[in-house]
Amino acid sequence: MSSILLGSIEAGGTKFVCAVGDMDFKVQEQTSFPTGDPEETMKKVIDFFSAYDISAIAIGSFGPVDIDPHSENYGKILATPKLEWRGFDILSALKKYFDLPIYLTTDVNASAFGEYTMGAAKDANSCVYFTVGTGIGGGVIQNGEFIGGLTHLEMGHTFVKRHPDDIDFEGVCPYHGADCLEGAASGPSLQARTGLRGETVTEEHDVWDIEAYYIAQLALNTRLNFAPEKIIFGGGVMQQEHLMSKVRSIFTELNNGYVEVPPLEDYIVNPAIPENGSATVGNFALALRELNK
Ligand code: ADP
Ligand code: ZN
Repeated sequence: MSSILLGSIEAGGTKFVCAVGDMDFKVQEQTSFPTGDPEETMKKVIDFFSAYDISAIAIGSFGPVDIDPHSENYGKILATPKLEWRGFDILSALKKYFDLPIYLTTDVNASAFGEYTMGAAKDANSCVYFTVGTGIGGGVIQNGEFIGGLTHLEMGHTFVKRHPDDIDFEGVCPYHGADCLEGAASGPSLQARTGLRGETVTEEHDVWDIEAYYIAQLALNTRLNFAPEKIIFGGGVMQQEHLMSKVRSIFTELNNGYVEVPPLEDYIVNPAIPENGSATVGNFALALRELNK
């Protein structure tokens, strides 16, 4: 058993990360490359895995993507702004080369599963994981299963109340302007407001109060909607260390004593798996689960 190798594909809109791991979900080999057109990108994926004797693979993909095995579009990338990828069947592209159990889910579901298996939620039966980066997305786990029905969740496009100092902002969501989380609080929204990439905006800038106000609403709505045991925030924007304490204090104000929550330093947290490894660990665990089915 110890020789079994598992494959992880983090299929992101900007880059792909492929990894081979063992039964302890430790990375043995890893590669990453920018997301190009589907053919050249999948060729790199296939070349990478062809060098290993893999037993199962899991893919955490950017979306929207059809992850329902009963759907006729199962495996296809749907209405993405990345036009070359629209309608591309990422699952079949792999199945052509690898006759293996292959599990497909969203990138954020994969990250949620990693944190649930070995990270911030390892002792919990439920958790919600969000990424706040180029987009905003979330995955929900309840008793080891992902929440979703018709399709995967789209929590990044849930609506938020405007910050009083932000009423004129047009937002960056092509569908909802600044009414939704992604439009009001994704990395590109910081740049649209300040003219600077989020990485270079100083801690003193007022935009962080606005950012925290939206993230706090997301956290509170998540507590109200799902009552998970952990709420985890990953993604580039959440690397701003000062942001979490702002989010926690605004959460407390907005909640206004209504629902009970654990101490917020333990409840609203960053990922515990280092170096953006949550999705890779999650994919290994999902690949193993698929193999054991
Ligand atoms: P992606 O979402 O594309 O996979 P990231 O999670 O790194 O990748 O998100 C990229 C977005 O987050 C960009 O808009 C970038 O400016 C912003 N970002 C990345 N790192 C930081 C940081 N340390 N502080 C603030 N914003 C950041
Ligand atoms: Zn939106």
